[in-house]
Amino acid sequence: MKYIDLRSDTVTRPTKAMRTAMFEAEVGDDVYGEDPTVNELERLSTEMLGTESAIFASSGTQSNLLALMSHCSRGDEYIVGQKAHIYKYEGGGAAVLGAIQPQPLDFREDGTFDLKQVAAAVKPDDFHFARTKLLCLENTHNGLALPMDYFYKAKSFTEKYGLSLHLDGARIFNAAVKENVSAKEIAKHFDSISVCLSKGLGSPVGSVLCGTNQVIQSARRWRKVLGGGMRQVGILAAAGVYALKNHVERLAEDHENALILAKGLEEIEELQVNYTTAQTNMVFLEAAKDYAVSLSEHLAQKGILIWGDETIRLVTHLDINEEDIRRTILVFKEFFK
Ligand SMILES: *Cc1c(COP(=O)(O)O)cnc(C)c1O
Repeated sequence: MKYIDLRSDTVTRPTKAMRTAMFEAEVGDDVYGEDPTVNELERLSTEMLGTESAIFASSGTQSNLLALMSHCSRGDEYIVGQKAHIYKYEGGGAAVLGAIQPQPLDFREDGTFDLKQVAAAVKPDDFHFARTKLLCLENTHNGLALPMDYFYKAKSFTEKYGLSLHLDGARIFNAAVKENVSAKEIAKHFDSISVCLSKGLGSPVGSVLCGTNQVIQSARRWRKVLGGGMRQVGILAAAGVYALKNHVERLAEDHENALILAKGLEEIEELQVNYTTAQTNMVFLEAAKDYAVSLSEHLAQKGILIWGDETIRLVTHLDINEEDIRRTILVFKEFFK
């Protein structure tokens, strides 16, 4: 049975063409800087994000950690969303491995910060306090593409306060496709950007951290320290190169499918579809407690996998087509009949 797996866009499997690219990849020892395919991935990422440099990382978690450890030292602080991945879902790595303190603040509904609130959280230069060094944003955040004009505000804010600006751009290409701009238009405001190759772009593994030469040079050192200096890793980088060349524009299909799904599910009275978040490839909805569990069991029996029970998240991706979406809507409706 083919599963319609809507739990996450991380569940994609490499396509045949991607596997061929991996199979045929030229490789060398990347710790010596001699893997041509890794070098090509880093060059291509630099070009597409418009940054000075880039480094291949094993995961988004590692890539974000490399950025945090490059921007901040022991006793420094980063300002981050209370519900940001980099704060909430990365095992406290910045504290564990970097001796860096987070200052979490609430995101607003649209995924931005109230910059007045951020200003109040920046610590004065006084030995009682950690040294505030970095502001982190996330785009997309829960499927929301942040407003393009907000980046200008965030950038001038960080300039005024002498902070660096990092973007957890795990899904920056979803944001760029949604806004109909190149990823550069988003990336240009940031000192570093972490990009996941293993989400909607469909690579089996890997992220790239893009940024200034200074940040990436430091990240290269920290990646080695963290055990991330890999050898003939061009086998994996080849998937990333393939994804960046072939799987960016098609993200629009995932967004269309998410919208079809949101519209279809909205017809079901018992469900509350959150429309504002259905901008890119995610649909969030609320189901009442009394049938939440039996709903996901019913779907699983029909080969449809979802994440959550009362708050449900459905994610479209490379391995989901419009037919799968129609079937999903049908099976949801069947349950409520
Ligand atoms: C997935 C994700 C990451 C990194 O995840 P890994 O599983 O470590 O690759 C970081 N930020 C966001 C917003 C993500 O969705």
